Amino acid sequence: MSPARVVIVGGGTAGWMAACLMAKAWPASEITLIESPDIGIIGVGEGSTPQLRHLFRTLGIAEADWMPRADATYKTGIAFDGWSDRPGYTRYFHPFASDIDVHTQGAFHFTNLARRRGDDLPAQPDRFFLNAALAERRLAPLPADNFPFDATYGYHFDATLVGIVLRDHAVAAGVRHVAGRVMDAAVAETGDIAGLLLEGGRMVTADLFVDASGFRGLLIQEALGTPFRSFADNLFNDRAIAIPMPLAEDEDIPCHTTATALSAGWAWHIPLTSRSGNGYVYSSRHIDQDAAEVEFRTLLGPASDRALSRHLTMKVGRVERNWVGNCVAIGLSQGFIEPLEATALHLVQASVEGLIRAWPTQDRDGYNAAIARRIEGIRDYIVCHYRVNQRTDSAYWREAAALDTLSDSLRRIVHAWFSGGDVVAEIERQDIADIYAPMSWECLLAGYGTFPPDDRLRPAEDRVGLARIDDLIARSCLNFPSHRAALAALAEG
Ligand SMILES: Cc1cc2nc3c(=O)[nH]c(=O)nc-3n(C[C@H](O)[C@H](O)[C@H](O)COP(=O)(O)OP(=O)(O)OC[C@H]3O[C@@H](n4cnc5c(N)ncnc54)[C@H](O)[C@@H]3O)c2cc1C
Repeated sequence: MSPARVVIVGGGTAGWMAACLMAKAWPASEITLIESPDIGIIGVGEGSTPQLRHLFRTLGIAEADWMPRADATYKTGIAFDGWSDRPGYTRYFHPFASDIDVHTQGAFHFTNLARRRGDDLPAQPDRFFLNAALAERRLAPLPADNFPFDATYGYHFDATLVGIVLRDHAVAAGVRHVAGRVMDAAVAETGDIAGLLLEGGRMVTADLFVDASGFRGLLIQEALGTPFRSFADNLFNDRAIAIPMPLAEDEDIPCHTTATALSAGWAWHIPLTSRSGNGYVYSSRHIDQDAAEVEFRTLLGPASDRALSRHLTMKVGRVERNWVGNCVAIGLSQGFIEPLEATALHLVQASVEGLIRAWPTQDRDGYNAAIARRIEGIRDYIVCHYRVNQRTDSAYWREAAALDTLSDSLRRIVHAWFSGGDVVAEIERQDIADIYAPMSWECLLAGYGTFPPDDRLRPAEDRVGLARIDDLIARSCLNFPSHRAALAALAEG
């Protein structure tokens, strides 16, 4: 069963992702996407999780057919720089978990537990995971055929260009593209949307309306009045500055995102084939726009002097219900958690796929509860980065470390970590490993170096075979090509 007529409002990444997935799942539906060229798209959102690979596979779009068109690069994970001032832990890597990590993650679990309990064993996560080593060596996560383990990866890309790839795919699959502005939404007594009034007076009706209109939430929030639950009490960042910069000749193209802590937030660095994406996500309560831009340009260096900046306001939180009557919110209209782990498009995809699965039963409550659980689970993982930060040099970081507005779930995880408990068992007990795997939680918590001070550690025998782990990872890396070479091969077709 599928809706006969679907109208999607919004032609940002969310709208076109929804159009592509719905056109595939519901070939008999008449799908129309309406977007206002005057309003435009947000145009940031350049990093993904591995879920995006699944999207392109589902749609049957090969990497060679979209990556060069979108200036895309491979992403093996995120390097966190400067979030802790503990010696040996000023930088750590959050890798996407690869197949071969099953051979090392038990050792990592053991060493971080033992170190928290006072054994002097190395517990910096980078040493234990393949993707951290690929990032360090600038290797593309594409194993040779004779290496029987996959590396998990996501992508970096130009958001506008990916939108064009998806638009072309959707239109080829039969989606109607209408350029026009929605001026008003008529709401029926039943609470459903009766129709949309377009500029010029045309009325559009549908069985399902998808609100992909961005932060404003034109249908779900403005027309239907669905309350918005802010996360401002434990996520302070509400602004961003984006300063894209051209690549210098022979500039390195890393295969990871870097998130560098600054005085009132953090800066992203995302390498594309033609330029780098750079942004400072900050709290306007702790720094004003001008001071933030000065601080950010100082980080970027003199090469940023001629690069233009864009200032953005972020609305962080979620709508109370995603699916109300005949309207479903997808993308920024459904909510946003700041971009630290680049999860927004992942959520778009999960929300559209969940809707397609739920459509035959029309189980709105079940769907809304599943989306809320996922958003709040991601929120907790992001909040944890701030709660356990080990910086004391600004009010922002001190306030973040003192946060006590944690969910019960996060409170129990943090307690397990600091009381020498078993974090993996706690995550399994809470049944939240599908949102962030225990390995991700342990990388985050260990990455900040929150262990007893070195002078309180007792000497400990290496019971996990660290030399064997180093060897396994070093030899595994021999099976991967350089990132630059892999991108050049894609571009050549
Ligand atoms: C600073 C920042 C960094 C981010 N980084 C990441 C990241 O690294 N990874 C990630 O996954 N996500 C990231 N995101 C989120 C990501 O940008 C969005 O999830 C993604 O771009 C989808 O946006 P959207 O399509 O919901 O909204 P938008 O791009 O804002 O699109 C809204 C669409 O609605 C249309 N519209 C609005 N009103 C009307 C109207 N009245 N009539 C007709 N059309 C209308 C507009 O024309 C536009 O086409 C980031 C977001 C921010 C703010």
